[in-house]
Amino acid sequence: MQIVSCPSCGAEVKFRSHASVMAVCEYCSTRVLKDADAVKDLGKMSSVLEDYSPIQIGTSGVLGGRAFNVIGRIQLRYAAGMWNEWYLLFDDGATSWLGDSSGLYTVTTARDTQPPLPAFDELEPGGMVRVGSERMMVSEVRTADCTGGQGELPFKVAEGWQAKVADFRRGSSFVTLDYSDGPEPVVYTGVSVTLEAMQCQLLREDEQIERSAGRYRGKLSALDCPSCGGPINYLPGQTANLLCPSCNAQIDAASPKAQVLAAGERVDRVPTTLSLGAEANLNKQRYRILGVMVREDDEGTRWTEYLLYGARSGFSWLVETDEGWWRAGVMPEWPAWEQTGADTVMLDKIMYEKLYDYGATVIYAAGAFNWRVQVGDHVRVFEFQRGQTRLAAELSTEELIWSRSTPVAADQIKAWFGVAVRGKARRAQATEKGRYGSAAKKFIMVMLAVNAIPMLLNFGGTLVFNLLGALAIFLPALFLDSIDKGDKS
Ligand SMILES: [Zn+2]
Ligand SMILES: [Zn+2]
Repeated sequence: MQIVSCPSCGAEVKFRSHASVMAVCEYCSTRVLKDADAVKDLGKMSSVLEDYSPIQIGTSGVLGGRAFNVIGRIQLRYAAGMWNEWYLLFDDGATSWLGDSSGLYTVTTARDTQPPLPAFDELEPGGMVRVGSERMMVSEVRTADCTGGQGELPFKVAEGWQAKVADFRRGSSFVTLDYSDGPEPVVYTGVSVTLEAMQCQLLREDEQIERSAGRYRGKLSALDCPSCGGPINYLPGQTANLLCPSCNAQIDAASPKAQVLAAGERVDRVPTTLSLGAEANLNKQRYRILGVMVREDDEGTRWTEYLLYGARSGFSWLVETDEGWWRAGVMPEWPAWEQTGADTVMLDKIMYEKLYDYGATVIYAAGAFNWRVQVGDHVRVFEFQRGQTRLAAELSTEELIWSRSTPVAADQIKAWFGVAVRGKARRAQATEKGRYGSAAKKFIMVMLAVNAIPMLLNFGGTLVFNLLGALAIFLPALFLDSIDKGDKS
């Protein structure tokens, strides 16, 4: 360890790692550059925003049997929110980065990789590129601004410093290419981690976070919309992107002082079967609807997605479509997909076949979300099916996300939400109601079309038989539908 005096205030500034180039003075926020044996004053660093993270400089842990300490941090902001990169120093002198994005953690370590490496400008989520010897799919491309820093860092960073990074996946392994320093990227390999598994010590306690942030992380909190004053429920530190249910203002609650990003545009409130804030008991756990989103495909078919949060299991989705209800969750591990648009994917040695491929646009959103949602957001969706399970890849210009969903009976939704599912639930059943009749109609159309050919050639008695046949199919269908109606009213 090397200890220097801050050129601005004289306080001790420690350099624990040989790889560190600069450090931010704990007392006066001066950026101290370590240059050979001299130190230089690089001017002040803006202090980090309170973001509810439990990690702090000094937090320690163990990864793969090696002990580490957190010695530095940069805070970054991009279109969808904010995240931290914590600089780790291992006892053996090696360094890594601990990415901390709304409670999801990854550790990435620089490694030597032989070319070819792709150029930043040619990267598009969903594209396949060669990273050294491996062929990988681009999962995320983003440019972020550094908004603050703390402790020791291996490069000079200041406000306005921009990070240009892209993530690549192959199954459960991922690689990050960092283009911040120029066209030749630095290659990092990454693993997903949890703070528990790394036996992290000296984390900030909930009370400590509450004192500096004014709110508890992970406990539902309400803020008054800065635009209209209406109440909005959200999870501090986890759902920073809010859309006011009353005035549609877009609010960033990433720091304790909520900011209005965009005034609300006049959007008619879309009635939904389940309402924002509705609570449910699922598998002995309490869940709450934090966000509601209505999306539409290229043909104008609409469906509703509800963002659920449970204290123990985190985020999941309920999706209400014309086909019924689905429970969905984002997949941490991706299925293997040869390339975007390929007709099959493999997950755990099981093959799923492509079902649909469509565009989806957000036409209404309200509440709190763990990423930035806006009316007009457009993604391309590729859906795959095997038995009752569906896997979907959602591709936007920034990222590719995989989710898995399984069907849920409408009665189950009623049981979970109790009184919350009222008359409006009929919307979901509306298409179900006429299912026998419409199936029968389709069958009759096909039958008539097939029979139309001989009928045209030999017009006569066959027509009567056809009509009788059609009635024989259609009447029982109507009868079944009327039983259905009886069941549900
Ligand atoms: Zn100082
Ligand atoms: Zn409002």
